[in-house]
Amino acid sequence: MNVFGTPLRVMDHGEGAHIWDVDGNEYLDFLAGIAVNALGYAHPKWVKAVSEQAAKAAHVSNYFATEPQIKLAAKLVKLAGAPEGSRVYFGNSGAEGNEAALKLAKLYGRTLPGASPEIGGKPARIISMTHGFHGRTMGALSATWKPAIREKFEPLVPNIEFVEAGNVEALHDAFAETGQGKYGKGPVAAVIMELIQGEAGVMPLGADYVKAARKLCDEHKALLIIDEVQTGIGRTGAWFAFQREDLSGGVTPDIVTFAKGVGGGFPMGGMISFGAELSALFTPGSHGSTFAGNPLGASAALATLGVIEEDSLVDNAEERGKQLRDGIASCGNPLFVSVRGRGLLDAIELAHPCSHAAMNWALEHGLIVNAVAPNALRLAPPLVITAQDVDQAVSILAKIPSDLPND
Ligand SMILES: *Cc1c(COP(=O)(O)O)cnc(C)c1O
Repeated sequence: MNVFGTPLRVMDHGEGAHIWDVDGNEYLDFLAGIAVNALGYAHPKWVKAVSEQAAKAAHVSNYFATEPQIKLAAKLVKLAGAPEGSRVYFGNSGAEGNEAALKLAKLYGRTLPGASPEIGGKPARIISMTHGFHGRTMGALSATWKPAIREKFEPLVPNIEFVEAGNVEALHDAFAETGQGKYGKGPVAAVIMELIQGEAGVMPLGADYVKAARKLCDEHKALLIIDEVQTGIGRTGAWFAFQREDLSGGVTPDIVTFAKGVGGGFPMGGMISFGAELSALFTPGSHGSTFAGNPLGASAALATLGVIEEDSLVDNAEERGKQLRDGIASCGNPLFVSVRGRGLLDAIELAHPCSHAAMNWALEHGLIVNAVAPNALRLAPPLVITAQDVDQAVSILAKIPSDLPND
């Protein structure tokens, strides 16, 4: 199906931050499979872990547990700093992590005063942000803002509403609509947000806003779901973006969803629910997936997290990110208006809407970047990139012609 348009190239193999197409052309990869390939291509420890597990048992179903799966769940809870009794649900993608979070929030919503199981109760609501992206499946899409990708599939899941991202008053007003009578709405079960809106063009929500949202959630007993599918697993210079004071204001979420980077290229995602009480709402039969959390994927993820830890790649993301943004800011290309982001999730704002032309020019000159918005290029290289890789990327970016035609 032609859902991604014409492929840019046919790729063959990679090593570290470099990939070669079938014609033998080499590219420095500053997209990393859309923020997925944390260790770059063919990292020897990842290859070894996946090969060894494939030779033992790739899949056993969730009627059985495996050691890699248990270890991975414990590791994720620890890295997220989640309290005793927290649990992990595994899925195969970011969308599935968010589907699980939305379903858990629905169960939670039914426990709130005034919610639907009561006589005269109303369905609990979920609040999402304008410009937010949470995936393409029907539930995750219901919480995804962009009208062009959502509206033609409506009606979607009801009782999911959008508020203006970054506007505390709008969020306050949305909560205040809860009430009795004909026009009163059901209680708010959850607020879902990305701390940096990735698909919207790498836009941080703002720490003050996130802090205010946490406070409103607490006052109204609503869950705060932080979608870390793109920001998580070291990409922003912290294991999770919510652990960065300058992105979150120091708040603790109730649910964190993860995917992209976690498997180092193996399709894997899921959610961490914070605390025993919330985690106990899913019981046998509530949710599930045949493939999710299988030992092959869990081994890939354990190897990925292990290398990130051993090689201090979270710190590398922070340092290389600074180098990258500084390099872009001072490279003198008049096409570049500004650069934003944290760690290795960054975007360049362009002077005019020519991001596709700029992306294609970079590709022709051996650098993969992403046209995330009409006037923005996204940079999300593997966490293993070196100072030399960054210098090379900046030197190519500096030469992008500033008079490219608009797309
Ligand atoms: C990519 C992304 C998703 C969807 O992940 P898939 O693996 O494509 O389903 C959800 N949320 C955010 C923030 C993302 O960046």
